[in-house]
Amino acid sequence: MPVSLLDRLFAAGLLIDTGVDGLYGRSGKFEEVITRFEALIDRFGGADNPEAIRFPPGMNRAHFEGSGYMKSFPQLAGTVHSFCGCELDHVSLLQCLEEGKDWTGQQQATDIVLTPAACYPLYPTIAKRGALKEGGGLFDLQSYCFRHEPSKEPTRMQLFRMREYVRMGTPSEVMAFRQDWMERGTKLMEEVGLPFEIDVANDPFFGRAGRMYKNNQRSQNLKFELLIPVNADAGPTACMSFNYHQDHFGKTWGLATADGETAHTACVGFGLERIALALFKHHGLETEDWPEHVRRALWG
Ligand code: ATP
Ligand code: ZN
Ligand code: MG
Repeated sequence: MPVSLLDRLFAAGLLIDTGVDGLYGRSGKFEEVITRFEALIDRFGGADNPEAIRFPPGMNRAHFEGSGYMKSFPQLAGTVHSFCGCELDHVSLLQCLEEGKDWTGQQQATDIVLTPAACYPLYPTIAKRGALKEGGGLFDLQSYCFRHEPSKEPTRMQLFRMREYVRMGTPSEVMAFRQDWMERGTKLMEEVGLPFEIDVANDPFFGRAGRMYKNNQRSQNLKFELLIPVNADAGPTACMSFNYHQDHFGKTWGLATADGETAHTACVGFGLERIALALFKHHGLETEDWPEHVRRALWG
């Protein structure tokens, strides 16, 4: 049987097995590729002077609830629960542990949920500042994100990093931003020698009602993905996405343009681990042996 990509990555020490599918440690060399790739992203996006904001990988539960995430993607969400009991409750918790019984039912939801996409905490934060200035807003984000989608494919992790640019403003400002980034994404991947295609896509909206949202998202071209072949027995992997939310977040959070209209928003997301994996897959597990032009693009 051929050795899987995941096993090769484990053997090379690039990813470190934790015993849970989709939850991996990363080696210094893996991290260096991510750092270098982020510097390349900066070269493409930095001149627009985005406002950089870094949120931790957990977000305000009220903001998560307000975003409607549980309506669309309940299957992916992860919440943070803690023990909030008294000493007596502690005794029964320890007893459950001792007997190998479920002890987690005694945990209570905290005010924090795991961030499902880097941009979710941004919309309520910016709405709270008041209306956008003339010309709208542009933000640079990076966060660990959680999605409950355990998989043996190394490209589908449960905790991974997303780098994003988010644009807020009029429909034409936001659409121009997304168009720009589809062209930049193309140039960027060419610079690092990765094969790709760009295609229309949809999010995995839950259940029967979700089918309508998926069709709608596709027919209106609201989501595009930049796909790179990484896994042997599966289709190509989405390594970037280009999303137009129309006025969804604007309406949800009361986000307004300088003219008092409901703001439209778009985001472009880079899956940092997926891009690193694509680089290792196509150029080999030793970065020293990568083609000269690729090394130059990343290491300068
Ligand atoms: P997929 O269709 O493969 O599930 P997605 O449509 O869910 O991807 P987005 O929600 O657009 O992806 O997230 C933005 C980017 O984050 C993706 O383009 C991808 O590069 C990355 N990403 C998404 N899910 C994962 C995951 N489980 N592990 C690693 N990276 C991910
Ligand atoms: Zn986003
Ligand atoms: Mg997904």
